[in-house]
Amino acid sequence: MSNSTKYIFVTGGVTSSLGKGIISASLAKLLQARGYSTTIQKLDPYINIDPGTLNPYEHGECFVTDDGAETDLDLGHYERFLNVPTSQANNVTTGRIYQSVINKERRGEFLGKTVQVIPHITDEIKERIQILGNKGDYDIVITEIGGTVGDIESLPYVEAVRQMMWEFENDCIVIHLTLVPYLAAAGELKTKPTQHSVKQLLELGVQPDILCCRTEHELDLNLRRKIAKFCNVSMNAVIESRDADSIYDVPILMQAEELDKVVLEKLNLPTKSVPDLNNWVEFLRKLKSPTSTVTVGLVGKYVELKDSYKSISEAFIHAGVANETKVNIKWIHSEKITKENVDAMLEGLDGILVAPGFGSRGISGKIETVRHARQNKIPFFGICLGMQCAVIEFARNVIGWSEAHTTEIVEDCKYPVISMMSEQKEIVNMGGTMRLGAYKCHLTAGSKVAQAYNTEKISERHRHRFEFNNEYLSTFEEHGMKATGRNPETGLVEVVEIEDHPWFVGAQYHPEYKSTVANPHPLFVAFIKAVLENKK
Ligand code: GLN
Repeated sequence: MSNSTKYIFVTGGVTSSLGKGIISASLAKLLQARGYSTTIQKLDPYINIDPGTLNPYEHGECFVTDDGAETDLDLGHYERFLNVPTSQANNVTTGRIYQSVINKERRGEFLGKTVQVIPHITDEIKERIQILGNKGDYDIVITEIGGTVGDIESLPYVEAVRQMMWEFENDCIVIHLTLVPYLAAAGELKTKPTQHSVKQLLELGVQPDILCCRTEHELDLNLRRKIAKFCNVSMNAVIESRDADSIYDVPILMQAEELDKVVLEKLNLPTKSVPDLNNWVEFLRKLKSPTSTVTVGLVGKYVELKDSYKSISEAFIHAGVANETKVNIKWIHSEKITKENVDAMLEGLDGILVAPGFGSRGISGKIETVRHARQNKIPFFGICLGMQCAVIEFARNVIGWSEAHTTEIVEDCKYPVISMMSEQKEIVNMGGTMRLGAYKCHLTAGSKVAQAYNTEKISERHRHRFEFNNEYLSTFEEHGMKATGRNPETGLVEVVEIEDHPWFVGAQYHPEYKSTVANPHPLFVAFIKAVLENKK
Protein backbone atom coordinates (compact mmCIF):
# COMPACT_ATOMS: atom_id res chain seq x y z
CA MET A 1 0.00 0.00 0.00
CA SER A 2 1.33 3.44 -0.75
CA ASN A 3 0.46 6.69 0.83
CA SER A 4 1.46 10.25 0.04
CA THR A 5 1.97 11.25 3.68
CA LYS A 6 4.96 9.89 5.58
CA TYR A 7 4.63 8.89 9.21
CA ILE A 8 7.31 9.05 11.86
CA PHE A 9 6.59 7.39 15.19
CA VAL A 10 8.53 8.45 18.26
CA THR A 11 8.60 6.01 21.15
CA GLY A 12 10.47 6.21 24.43
CA GLY A 13 12.27 3.61 26.48
CA VAL A 14 14.13 3.09 29.76
CA THR A 15 12.51 5.98 31.64
CA SER A 16 10.01 8.76 31.20
CA SER A 17 10.98 12.44 30.91
CA LEU A 18 13.61 11.86 28.21
CA GLY A 19 12.20 14.74 26.21
CA LYS A 20 10.34 13.01 23.37
CA GLY A 21 8.34 16.20 22.88
CA ILE A 22 11.43 18.34 22.35
CA ILE A 23 13.09 15.78 20.08
CA SER A 24 9.90 15.51 18.02
CA ALA A 25 9.56 19.29 17.82
CA SER A 26 13.23 19.68 16.89
CA LEU A 27 13.04 17.08 14.13
CA ALA A 28 9.85 18.70 12.85
CA LYS A 29 11.61 22.06 12.84
CA LEU A 30 14.48 20.67 10.75
CA LEU A 31 12.12 19.01 8.27
CA GLN A 32 10.04 22.18 8.06
CA ALA A 33 13.22 24.19 7.45
CA ARG A 34 13.98 21.89 4.51
CA GLY A 35 10.59 22.69 3.00
CA TYR A 36 8.47 19.79 4.24
CA SER A 37 5.17 20.71 5.85
CA THR A 38 5.19 18.79 9.08
CA THR A 39 2.89 18.38 12.04
CA ILE A 40 3.26 16.56 15.33
CA GLN A 41 0.70 14.55 17.22
CA LYS A 42 0.80 13.25 20.76
CA LEU A 43 -0.93 10.04 21.82
CA ASP A 44 -1.38 9.88 25.59
CA PRO A 45 -2.02 6.49 27.16
CA TYR A 46 -4.17 7.65 30.08
CA ILE A 47 -7.91 7.24 30.54
CA ASN A 48 -8.86 10.91 30.96
CA ILE A 49 -10.61 12.14 27.82
CA ASP A 50 -8.22 15.09 27.82
CA PRO A 51 -5.94 16.76 30.38
CA GLY A 52 -8.50 19.51 31.01
CA THR A 53 -9.65 17.92 34.25
CA LEU A 54 -6.13 17.15 35.48
CA ASN A 55 -4.55 19.07 38.30
CA PRO A 56 -1.40 20.81 36.98
CA TYR A 57 0.63 18.94 39.61
CA GLU A 58 -0.13 15.76 37.62
CA HIS A 59 1.01 16.73 34.15
CA GLY A 60 1.89 20.40 34.18
CA GLU A 61 0.06 23.00 32.16
CA CYS A 62 -3.00 22.26 30.09
CA PHE A 63 -2.36 23.76 26.65
CA VAL A 64 -5.33 25.12 24.68
CA THR A 65 -5.59 25.17 20.88
CA ASP A 66 -7.49 27.60 18.65
CA ASP A 67 -10.27 25.06 18.19
CA GLY A 68 -10.71 24.82 21.95
CA ALA A 69 -9.02 21.49 22.68
CA GLU A 70 -7.51 21.12 26.14
CA THR A 71 -4.27 19.30 25.44
CA ASP A 72 -0.91 18.08 26.65
CA LEU A 73 1.76 20.72 27.19
CA ASP A 74 3.92 19.15 24.47
CA LEU A 75 1.56 20.72 21.92
CA GLY A 76 2.81 24.04 23.22
CA HIS A 77 6.35 23.03 22.30
CA TYR A 78 5.19 21.94 18.85
CA GLU A 79 3.62 25.33 18.23
CA ARG A 80 6.52 27.30 19.70
CA PHE A 81 9.00 25.45 17.47
CA LEU A 82 6.98 25.22 14.27
CA ASN A 83 4.89 28.39 14.49
CA VAL A 84 1.95 26.42 13.08
CA PRO A 85 -1.23 26.02 15.14
CA THR A 86 -2.24 22.56 16.33
CA SER A 87 -5.79 21.32 16.83
CA GLN A 88 -7.92 18.70 18.56
CA ALA A 89 -6.56 16.03 16.21
CA ASN A 90 -3.02 16.61 17.46
CA ASN A 91 -3.67 15.13 20.90
CA VAL A 92 -5.52 11.87 21.51
CA THR A 93 -5.82 9.96 24.78
CA THR A 94 -6.77 6.37 25.52
CA GLY A 95 -9.93 7.75 27.12
CA ARG A 96 -10.96 9.43 23.87
CA ILE A 97 -10.15 6.31 21.83
CA TYR A 98 -12.29 4.10 24.07
CA GLN A 99 -15.06 6.68 24.24
CA SER A 100 -15.30 6.80 20.49
CA VAL A 101 -15.21 2.98 20.11
CA ILE A 102 -17.85 2.58 22.81
CA ASN A 103 -20.07 5.22 21.18
CA LYS A 104 -19.79 3.31 17.87
CA GLU A 105 -20.72 0.10 19.68
CA ARG A 106 -23.82 1.76 21.15
CA ARG A 107 -24.82 2.94 17.69
CA GLY A 108 -24.58 -0.65 16.49
CA GLU A 109 -21.77 0.11 14.06
CA PHE A 110 -19.92 -3.14 14.79
CA LEU A 111 -22.86 -5.21 13.49
CA GLY A 112 -23.07 -7.65 16.37
CA LYS A 113 -19.35 -8.39 16.55
CA THR A 114 -17.43 -8.72 19.83
CA VAL A 115 -15.60 -5.42 20.34
CA GLN A 116 -11.95 -5.99 21.28
CA VAL A 117 -8.66 -4.17 21.82
CA ILE A 118 -7.44 -5.76 18.60
CA PRO A 119 -8.74 -4.84 16.08
CA HIS A 120 -11.21 -2.21 17.29
CA ILE A 121 -9.10 -0.11 19.61
CA THR A 122 -6.02 -0.43 17.41
CA ASP A 123 -8.08 0.49 14.32
CA GLU A 124 -9.35 3.59 16.11
CA ILE A 125 -5.76 4.53 16.99
CA LYS A 126 -4.63 4.06 13.40
CA GLU A 127 -7.55 6.15 12.19
CA ARG A 128 -6.64 8.96 14.61
CA ILE A 129 -3.04 8.89 13.39
CA GLN A 130 -4.14 9.11 9.77
CA ILE A 131 -6.68 11.90 10.29
CA LEU A 132 -3.80 14.38 10.12
CA GLY A 133 -2.19 12.67 7.13
CA ASN A 134 -5.46 12.43 5.22
CA LYS A 135 -6.12 16.14 5.54
CA GLY A 136 -3.59 16.60 2.75
CA ASP A 137 -1.93 19.54 4.49
CA TYR A 138 1.17 17.71 5.64
CA ASP A 139 4.00 15.86 3.93
CA ILE A 140 5.07 14.38 7.22
CA VAL A 141 3.18 13.53 10.41
CA ILE A 142 5.25 12.86 13.51
CA THR A 143 3.34 10.86 16.12
CA GLU A 144 4.76 10.84 19.61
CA ILE A 145 3.63 7.89 21.73
CA GLY A 146 3.40 9.02 25.35
CA GLY A 147 4.64 6.81 28.16
CA THR A 148 7.45 4.28 28.10
CA VAL A 149 7.66 1.13 26.01
CA GLY A 150 6.85 -1.83 28.23
CA ASP A 151 4.02 -0.07 30.07
CA ILE A 152 0.75 -2.00 29.94
CA GLU A 153 -1.00 1.18 28.90
CA SER A 154 1.01 1.80 25.76
CA LEU A 155 0.65 -1.74 24.32
CA PRO A 156 -2.26 -0.95 21.97
CA TYR A 157 -0.35 2.04 20.61
CA VAL A 158 2.78 0.02 19.89
CA GLU A 159 0.59 -2.60 18.22
CA ALA A 160 -1.01 0.10 16.07
CA VAL A 161 2.47 1.29 15.10
CA ARG A 162 3.47 -2.30 14.23
CA GLN A 163 0.47 -2.65 11.96
CA MET A 164 1.07 0.67 10.25
CA MET A 165 4.73 -0.21 9.66
CA TRP A 166 3.45 -3.29 7.87
CA GLU A 167 0.64 -1.61 5.95
CA PHE A 168 2.64 1.44 4.81
CA GLU A 169 6.08 -0.08 4.83
CA ASN A 170 7.78 2.56 2.71
CA ASP A 171 6.11 5.46 4.39
CA CYS A 172 6.71 4.85 8.09
CA ILE A 173 9.68 4.85 10.39
CA VAL A 174 10.14 4.50 14.13
CA ILE A 175 12.50 6.61 16.19
CA HIS A 176 13.13 5.23 19.64
CA LEU A 177 14.39 7.58 22.32
CA THR A 178 16.45 5.88 25.02
CA LEU A 179 18.82 6.66 27.84
CA VAL A 180 22.53 5.87 27.86
CA PRO A 181 23.34 6.46 31.52
CA TYR A 182 26.77 7.37 32.86
CA LEU A 183 27.90 5.20 35.77
CA ALA A 184 30.22 7.38 37.79
CA ALA A 185 31.67 4.45 39.74
CA ALA A 186 32.66 2.69 36.51
CA GLY A 187 33.45 5.95 34.72
CA GLU A 188 31.51 4.66 31.73
CA LEU A 189 28.42 5.16 29.62
CA LYS A 190 26.26 2.05 29.65
CA THR A 191 24.38 0.76 26.61
CA LYS A 192 22.57 -2.16 28.23
CA PRO A 193 19.37 -0.28 29.14
CA THR A 194 19.12 0.79 25.49
CA GLN A 195 19.66 -2.78 24.29
CA HIS A 196 16.94 -4.04 26.65
CA SER A 197 14.55 -1.33 25.68
CA VAL A 198 14.98 -2.14 21.98
CA LYS A 199 14.46 -5.85 22.79
CA GLN A 200 11.21 -4.91 24.44
CA LEU A 201 10.09 -3.16 21.27
CA LEU A 202 11.21 -6.15 19.21
CA GLU A 203 9.11 -8.47 21.36
CA LEU A 204 6.16 -6.33 20.34
CA GLY A 205 7.13 -6.69 16.70
CA VAL A 206 8.64 -3.26 16.16
CA GLN A 207 12.21 -2.72 14.96
CA PRO A 208 13.20 0.91 15.45
CA ASP A 209 14.91 2.57 12.48
CA ILE A 210 16.68 5.27 14.45
CA LEU A 211 17.82 5.47 18.05
CA CYS A 212 18.09 8.81 19.79
CA CYS A 213 20.30 8.31 22.80
CA ARG A 214 19.97 10.75 25.66
CA THR A 215 23.33 11.06 27.34
CA GLU A 216 25.32 13.39 29.53
CA HIS A 217 28.59 12.55 27.74
CA GLU A 218 29.80 12.08 24.20
CA LEU A 219 28.81 8.84 22.51
CA ASP A 220 32.07 7.78 20.90
CA LEU A 221 32.41 5.61 17.84
CA ASN A 222 32.83 2.43 19.82
CA LEU A 223 29.63 3.00 21.73
CA ARG A 224 27.77 3.91 18.55
CA ARG A 225 29.07 0.76 16.88
CA LYS A 226 28.02 -1.34 19.84
CA ILE A 227 24.53 0.13 19.97
CA ALA A 228 24.12 -0.22 16.20
CA LYS A 229 25.24 -3.86 16.27
CA PHE A 230 23.10 -5.00 19.17
CA CYS A 231 20.02 -3.03 18.19
CA ASN A 232 20.02 -3.75 14.42
CA VAL A 233 20.29 -0.17 13.25
CA SER A 234 22.81 1.44 10.94
CA MET A 235 25.70 3.38 12.49
CA ASN A 236 24.43 6.73 11.20
CA ALA A 237 21.06 6.01 12.80
CA VAL A 238 22.52 6.09 16.29
CA ILE A 239 21.94 9.70 17.23
CA GLU A 240 23.53 11.31 20.23
CA SER A 241 21.21 13.59 22.16
CA ARG A 242 23.26 15.45 24.74
CA ASP A 243 21.79 17.53 27.54
CA ALA A 244 21.45 21.11 26.29
CA ASP A 245 21.45 24.51 28.00
CA SER A 246 18.21 25.47 26.32
CA ILE A 247 15.50 23.43 24.61
CA TYR A 248 15.97 25.79 21.67
CA ASP A 249 19.49 24.40 21.13
CA VAL A 250 18.13 20.95 20.38
CA PRO A 251 17.27 21.48 16.68
CA ILE A 252 20.84 22.68 16.09
CA LEU A 253 22.28 19.69 17.99
CA MET A 254 20.05 17.32 16.02
CA GLN A 255 21.13 18.95 12.79
CA ALA A 256 24.77 18.38 13.71
CA GLU A 257 23.92 14.71 14.27
CA GLU A 258 22.16 14.72 10.87
CA LEU A 259 18.94 13.35 12.33
CA ASP A 260 16.88 15.04 9.61
CA LYS A 261 19.07 13.60 6.81
CA VAL A 262 18.87 10.08 8.18
CA VAL A 263 15.09 10.40 8.56
CA LEU A 264 14.63 11.59 4.97
CA GLU A 265 16.89 8.86 3.65
CA LYS A 266 14.89 6.19 5.48
CA LEU A 267 11.63 7.66 4.21
CA ASN A 268 12.99 7.79 0.63
CA LEU A 269 12.45 11.51 0.48
CA PRO A 270 14.85 13.94 -1.21
CA THR A 271 16.84 16.05 1.24
CA LYS A 272 15.93 19.14 -0.82
CA SER A 273 17.79 22.19 0.45
CA VAL A 274 19.98 22.66 3.48
CA PRO A 275 17.61 23.64 6.31
CA ASP A 276 17.07 27.38 6.48
CA LEU A 277 17.59 28.05 10.17
CA ASN A 278 18.90 31.62 9.94
CA ASN A 279 16.14 33.10 12.08
CA TRP A 280 16.47 30.31 14.60
CA VAL A 281 20.21 30.81 14.90
CA GLU A 282 19.69 34.54 15.28
CA PHE A 283 17.17 33.86 18.07
CA LEU A 284 19.73 31.65 19.85
CA ARG A 285 22.44 34.27 19.44
CA LYS A 286 20.27 36.87 21.14
CA LEU A 287 19.16 34.40 23.78
CA LYS A 288 22.78 33.80 24.71
CA SER A 289 24.03 37.37 24.63
CA PRO A 290 21.46 39.55 26.37
CA THR A 291 22.39 43.20 26.89
CA SER A 292 20.40 43.57 30.13
CA THR A 293 18.62 41.56 32.80
CA VAL A 294 15.27 42.00 34.52
CA THR A 295 13.54 40.05 37.26
CA VAL A 296 9.85 39.34 36.99
CA GLY A 297 7.86 37.80 39.82
CA LEU A 298 5.49 35.05 38.74
CA VAL A 299 2.85 34.73 41.44
CA GLY A 300 0.83 31.53 41.35
CA LYS A 301 -0.23 28.58 43.42
CA TYR A 302 1.49 25.82 41.44
CA VAL A 303 4.99 27.30 41.45
CA GLU A 304 6.57 24.15 42.95
CA LEU A 305 6.00 22.53 39.56
CA LYS A 306 7.25 24.98 36.98
CA ASP A 307 5.74 22.95 34.13
CA SER A 308 2.37 24.25 35.37
CA TYR A 309 3.27 27.59 33.78
CA LYS A 310 5.26 26.27 30.81
CA SER A 311 3.78 28.54 28.14
CA ILE A 312 4.21 31.62 30.35
CA SER A 313 7.86 30.91 31.11
CA GLU A 314 8.56 30.19 27.42
CA ALA A 315 6.73 33.38 26.40
CA PHE A 316 9.08 35.27 28.73
CA ILE A 317 12.07 33.71 26.95
CA HIS A 318 10.68 34.82 23.57
CA ALA A 319 9.85 38.31 24.83
CA GLY A 320 13.26 38.56 26.50
CA VAL A 321 14.98 37.78 23.21
CA ALA A 322 12.82 40.35 21.40
CA ASN A 323 14.08 42.93 23.92
CA GLU A 324 17.61 41.46 23.98
CA THR A 325 17.08 41.01 27.71
CA LYS A 326 17.42 38.09 30.03
CA VAL A 327 14.19 37.64 31.98
CA ASN A 328 14.78 36.00 35.33
CA ILE A 329 11.60 34.58 36.74
CA LYS A 330 11.23 34.63 40.49
CA TRP A 331 8.65 31.97 41.34
CA ILE A 332 6.49 33.16 44.20
CA HIS A 333 3.87 31.09 45.97
CA SER A 334 0.63 33.05 46.18
CA GLU A 335 -0.40 31.13 49.29
CA LYS A 336 2.57 32.56 51.18
CA ILE A 337 1.73 36.20 50.47
CA THR A 338 -0.17 38.15 53.12
CA LYS A 339 -1.04 41.80 53.60
CA GLU A 340 1.76 42.00 56.18
CA ASN A 341 4.58 40.41 54.18
CA VAL A 342 3.65 41.40 50.62
CA ASP A 343 6.11 44.29 50.38
CA ALA A 344 8.98 42.14 51.60
CA MET A 345 8.00 39.15 49.45
CA LEU A 346 7.87 41.23 46.27
CA GLU A 347 10.81 43.47 46.96
CA GLY A 348 13.25 44.11 44.15
CA LEU A 349 10.98 42.88 41.36
CA ASP A 350 11.08 44.82 38.10
CA GLY A 351 7.72 43.49 37.00
CA ILE A 352 4.95 41.25 38.31
CA LEU A 353 2.76 38.66 36.63
CA VAL A 354 -0.21 37.11 38.40
CA ALA A 355 -0.88 33.71 36.92
CA PRO A 356 -4.05 31.93 35.84
CA GLY A 357 -5.67 29.46 38.21
CA PHE A 358 -8.78 27.99 39.75
CA GLY A 359 -10.29 27.99 43.22
CA SER A 360 -9.64 29.83 46.42
CA ARG A 361 -6.19 28.60 47.41
CA GLY A 362 -3.77 31.52 47.26
CA ILE A 363 -6.27 34.03 45.91
CA SER A 364 -5.87 36.56 48.73
CA GLY A 365 -2.11 36.55 48.10
CA LYS A 366 -2.80 37.26 44.44
CA ILE A 367 -5.07 40.18 45.33
CA GLU A 368 -2.43 41.61 47.70
CA THR A 369 0.12 41.22 44.91
CA VAL A 370 -2.02 43.29 42.56
CA ARG A 371 -2.38 46.03 45.17
CA HIS A 372 1.38 46.13 45.65
CA ALA A 373 1.99 46.40 41.90
CA ARG A 374 -0.71 49.01 41.40
CA GLN A 375 0.26 51.26 44.30
CA ASN A 376 4.01 51.01 43.71
CA LYS A 377 3.59 51.49 39.96
CA ILE A 378 5.40 48.28 39.10
CA PRO A 379 4.59 46.97 35.60
CA PHE A 380 1.82 44.43 36.05
CA PHE A 381 0.44 41.70 33.86
CA GLY A 382 -2.55 39.64 35.00
CA ILE A 383 -3.65 36.60 33.03
CA CYS A 384 -7.11 35.08 33.35
CA LEU A 385 -7.52 34.61 37.14
CA GLY A 386 -4.72 37.19 37.40
CA MET A 387 -6.88 39.68 35.50
CA GLN A 388 -9.89 38.78 37.63
CA CYS A 389 -7.85 39.47 40.78
CA ALA A 390 -6.88 42.86 39.35
CA VAL A 391 -10.57 43.67 38.90
CA ILE A 392 -11.42 42.53 42.44
CA GLU A 393 -8.52 44.50 43.93
CA PHE A 394 -9.55 47.66 42.07
CA ALA A 395 -13.17 47.29 43.20
CA ARG A 396 -12.14 46.85 46.82
CA ASN A 397 -9.36 49.38 47.18
CA VAL A 398 -10.11 52.06 44.58
CA ILE A 399 -13.89 52.02 44.21
CA GLY A 400 -14.32 51.11 47.87
CA TRP A 401 -16.44 47.96 47.58
CA SER A 402 -14.72 45.93 50.27
CA GLU A 403 -17.04 42.99 49.64
CA ALA A 404 -16.25 42.70 45.96
CA HIS A 405 -15.26 39.21 44.84
CA THR A 406 -15.65 36.59 42.16
CA THR A 407 -18.62 34.25 42.47
CA GLU A 408 -16.13 31.41 41.91
CA ILE A 409 -15.05 31.93 45.54
CA VAL A 410 -18.01 33.63 47.24
CA GLU A 411 -21.18 32.82 45.36
CA ASP A 412 -23.42 35.35 47.05
CA CYS A 413 -20.92 38.17 47.54
CA LYS A 414 -22.28 41.74 47.66
CA TYR A 415 -20.36 42.95 44.61
CA PRO A 416 -19.91 40.04 42.20
CA VAL A 417 -17.52 41.96 39.94
CA ILE A 418 -16.47 38.66 38.36
CA SER A 419 -19.34 36.27 37.78
CA MET A 420 -20.34 33.26 35.79
CA MET A 421 -21.78 33.72 32.31
CA SER A 422 -25.40 32.62 32.11
CA GLU A 423 -24.57 29.89 29.54
CA GLN A 424 -22.15 28.39 32.05
CA LYS A 425 -24.73 28.20 34.83
CA GLU A 426 -26.63 25.28 33.29
CA ILE A 427 -23.52 23.12 32.82
CA VAL A 428 -23.02 20.14 35.13
CA ASN A 429 -20.07 18.32 33.51
CA MET A 430 -16.56 19.52 34.35
CA GLY A 431 -14.64 18.30 31.28
CA GLY A 432 -14.45 20.43 28.14
CA THR A 433 -17.19 22.82 29.24
CA MET A 434 -15.34 26.07 29.91
CA ARG A 435 -15.19 28.96 27.46
CA LEU A 436 -12.43 27.40 25.39
CA GLY A 437 -10.40 28.30 22.33
CA ALA A 438 -10.05 31.33 20.11
CA TYR A 439 -12.42 34.30 20.31
CA LYS A 440 -12.24 37.64 18.56
CA CYS A 441 -11.49 40.75 20.52
CA HIS A 442 -11.57 44.45 19.57
CA LEU A 443 -9.11 46.78 21.24
CA THR A 444 -9.54 50.46 22.05
CA ALA A 445 -7.47 52.70 19.80
CA GLY A 446 -4.56 54.26 21.66
CA SER A 447 -4.72 51.82 24.59
CA LYS A 448 -1.57 50.05 25.82
CA VAL A 449 -2.78 46.80 24.34
CA ALA A 450 -3.61 48.29 20.95
CA GLN A 451 -0.13 49.82 20.93
CA ALA A 452 1.42 46.48 21.85
CA TYR A 453 -0.40 44.54 19.13
CA ASN A 454 -0.17 47.40 16.68
CA THR A 455 -3.69 46.51 15.54
CA GLU A 456 -7.19 46.77 16.97
CA LYS A 457 -8.55 43.40 15.88
CA ILE A 458 -7.12 40.31 17.53
CA SER A 459 -8.06 36.73 18.32
CA GLU A 460 -6.89 34.98 21.47
CA ARG A 461 -7.45 31.70 23.27
CA HIS A 462 -9.60 31.32 26.36
CA ARG A 463 -10.04 28.83 29.20
CA HIS A 464 -12.34 30.00 31.97
CA ARG A 465 -15.91 30.02 33.26
CA PHE A 466 -16.07 33.42 34.94
CA GLU A 467 -16.14 36.88 33.38
CA PHE A 468 -16.00 40.57 34.17
CA ASN A 469 -19.52 41.56 35.27
CA ASN A 470 -20.58 44.26 32.81
CA GLU A 471 -23.18 45.63 35.23
CA TYR A 472 -20.32 47.40 36.99
CA LEU A 473 -18.31 48.49 33.97
CA SER A 474 -19.23 52.18 34.04
CA THR A 475 -18.22 52.53 37.71
CA PHE A 476 -14.86 50.90 36.96
CA GLU A 477 -14.28 53.23 34.01
CA GLU A 478 -15.20 56.30 36.03
CA HIS A 479 -12.56 55.32 38.57
CA GLY A 480 -9.84 54.75 35.97
CA MET A 481 -9.92 51.06 35.13
CA LYS A 482 -10.81 50.83 31.44
CA ALA A 483 -12.07 47.92 29.41
CA THR A 484 -9.70 48.22 26.44
CA GLY A 485 -10.52 44.88 24.84
CA ARG A 486 -14.05 43.58 24.26
CA ASN A 487 -15.57 40.68 22.44
CA PRO A 488 -17.27 42.29 19.40
CA GLU A 489 -20.27 39.94 19.50
CA THR A 490 -21.03 39.60 23.21
CA GLY A 491 -19.46 42.73 24.66
CA LEU A 492 -17.59 40.62 27.22
CA VAL A 493 -14.60 42.43 28.70
CA GLU A 494 -11.38 40.73 27.60
CA VAL A 495 -8.79 43.32 28.66
CA VAL A 496 -8.62 45.87 31.46
CA GLU A 497 -6.04 48.61 31.90
CA ILE A 498 -5.31 51.30 34.45
CA GLU A 499 -4.37 54.59 32.85
CA ASP A 500 -2.39 56.19 35.62
CA HIS A 501 0.29 53.52 35.79
CA PRO A 502 3.41 52.69 33.73
CA TRP A 503 1.92 49.39 32.48
CA PHE A 504 -1.00 47.67 34.11
CA VAL A 505 -2.79 45.17 31.89
CA GLY A 506 -5.10 42.29 32.71
CA ALA A 507 -6.19 39.85 30.01
CA GLN A 508 -9.08 37.44 30.42
CA TYR A 509 -7.57 35.29 27.64
CA HIS A 510 -4.27 33.42 27.64
CA PRO A 511 -1.76 35.23 25.42
CA GLU A 512 0.99 32.80 26.44
CA TYR A 513 -0.46 30.02 24.27
CA LYS A 514 0.29 31.96 21.11
CA SER A 515 3.87 32.99 21.77
CA THR A 516 6.39 31.27 19.49
CA VAL A 517 10.07 31.63 18.62
CA ALA A 518 9.12 33.18 15.26
CA ASN A 519 6.32 35.32 16.75
CA PRO A 520 6.97 36.34 20.33
CA HIS A 521 3.67 37.45 21.83
CA PRO A 522 3.18 41.25 21.52
CA LEU A 523 1.78 41.60 25.07
CA PHE A 524 4.73 39.78 26.61
CA VAL A 525 7.12 41.82 24.46
CA ALA A 526 5.43 45.08 25.50
CA PHE A 527 5.37 44.01 29.15
CA ILE A 528 9.11 43.27 29.18
CA LYS A 529 9.75 46.55 27.38
CA ALA A 530 7.80 48.37 30.11
CA VAL A 531 9.67 46.40 32.78
CA LEU A 532 12.98 47.45 31.23
CA GLU A 533 11.96 51.11 31.04
CA ASN A 534 10.70 51.03 34.60
CA LYS A 535 13.99 49.54 35.77
CA LYS A 536 15.91 52.41 34.20
N1 GLN B 1 -10.93 30.26 37.55
C1 GLN B 1 -11.16 31.34 36.64
C2 GLN B 1 -12.32 31.07 35.72
O1 GLN B 1 -12.71 29.95 35.52
C3 GLN B 1 -9.90 31.65 35.85
C4 GLN B 1 -9.44 30.52 35.00
C5 GLN B 1 -8.03 30.68 34.51
O2 GLN B 1 -7.24 31.41 35.09
N2 GLN B 1 -7.66 29.95 33.46
O3 GLN B 1 -12.88 31.99 35.16
